[in-house]
Amino acid sequence: MGFNKKTVEDIEVTGRRVLVRCDFNVPMKDGAITDESRLTGALPTIKYLMGKGGKVILCSHMGKAKGPDPKLTLAPVAARLGVLLGKDVIFAADPEVVGPNARAAVEAMKEGDVILLENTRFRPEEGKNEDGFSRDLASIADIFVNDAFGSAHRAHCSTSGVTKYVSTSVCGYLIQKELKFLGEALENPSRPFCAILGGAKVIDKIAVIDNLLNKVDTLIIGGGMAFTFLKARGYDIGSSLLDEGRIDYAHEMLEKADRLGVRLWLPLDHRVSAEYADVEGHVTGSANVPEGYMGLDIGPLSEEVFTEAIKEAKTIIWNGPMGVAEFKNFESGTRAIARAMAESGAVTIIGGGDSAAAVNSLGFGHRMTHVSTGGGASLEFLEGKELPGIAALNDK
Ligand code: AMP
Repeated sequence: MGFNKKTVEDIEVTGRRVLVRCDFNVPMKDGAITDESRLTGALPTIKYLMGKGGKVILCSHMGKAKGPDPKLTLAPVAARLGVLLGKDVIFAADPEVVGPNARAAVEAMKEGDVILLENTRFRPEEGKNEDGFSRDLASIADIFVNDAFGSAHRAHCSTSGVTKYVSTSVCGYLIQKELKFLGEALENPSRPFCAILGGAKVIDKIAVIDNLLNKVDTLIIGGGMAFTFLKARGYDIGSSLLDEGRIDYAHEMLEKADRLGVRLWLPLDHRVSAEYADVEGHVTGSANVPEGYMGLDIGPLSEEVFTEAIKEAKTIIWNGPMGVAEFKNFESGTRAIARAMAESGAVTIIGGGDSAAAVNSLGFGHRMTHVSTGGGASLEFLEGKELPGIAALNDK
């Protein structure tokens, strides 16, 4: 997959109908939006297109709708977006998403107008990438802009199918930024290149580890998944998380790291507890976990050694917490990594989802070079997979 995609700045939009796939899947409570960062994130692309006199038609999915579902309407998003833009956003209420109402609204648009279509998942074809809805979307647009990185790993009508039926498909500023930082890190990183992986499950990171070992100089593995690797190295892990079926895989990866000359760090000590609870932990003096205890965070020596490895790096990618960071007593390792990255002076990239949430809630988000907006999408990117919503865009 090429990373050099055309952007909104490479095309002529004045007077043209521009369909923009956004990620407006915002958290809601009692009909109110509880975190509007996805809306503010989308503003630069929308404002640019408005300013150039495009007719801006926004679309997005919301929740897990499998057909029309009034609880998952995008109407509140249109209202809030209008306030943020300082201009009315016309909501094209239409259970068919692109039905008579939406068509009439598009017909009436003037240059610089903005409308929002209804939740794309109200159309059952959306998730199956079936042509009917792709053609309907394309029928109201001259140009397609994808700015929903969080959905780019899915081949849906509104992320990739529609591109078959419009002549011009480009990325917006959000995807452009993801491609710049994630793409550059994987293709041409400043070295040393260090990846840090954590989180609970080995299975989720198998393909990431395998791919990154071909690219990085240093790989740090922490979090619950580290115990399967420690077990493979012969350490005692007490009752810590273990993926019994993947010890062989862990062996294989440790060997691959050796073969490729990648410096691979596992925790050298831990903060452990007898129960999975937010209680004060004990620090082990070694990588072994005593029987009856489980490791819930990396220990102070690991923090120190990992911090040194981070200091040496020029590019750092991080995905997955070092411990149970939701527990105050076990957030120390995750905080130490976030701080080391923030102070490193390197290009620092945070994978989306949990890691982005953790870094933001610890207050380090704004000190990173790039915090990805896509959880699953950024992982698939790091796996080296082709993302359908990006592959389908026009190359420069
Ligand atoms: P993931 O979704 O795989 O990135 O995992 C994130 C989850 O891993 C978080 O909810 C953490 O609580 C959990 N986690 C991290 N380290 C540990 C650990 N040592 N033991 C149990 N859970 C952990």
